[in-house]
Amino acid sequence: MKCTRCEGLMVFDRLYGPDEAIFDLPIWRCLNCGSSVDPLVLQKRLAEAKQLKSVEENVASS
Ligand SMILES: [Zn+2]
Repeated sequence: MKCTRCEGLMVFDRLYGPDEAIFDLPIWRCLNCGSSVDPLVLQKRLAEAKQLKSVEENVASS
């Protein structure tokens, strides 16, 4: 897994809130720039990118 910002090494980490019991979110964190990615956000972004691509393809074929 590479960081989308700096292509640095990303490691799997957990994001803890003030109350760990209710806020314990698995994330990817970049060792280089500290950027963190929530897998759910990442999935959503990938889905959006796919959707955008299919829209572009539809436009191109019509
Ligand atoms: Zn980074």
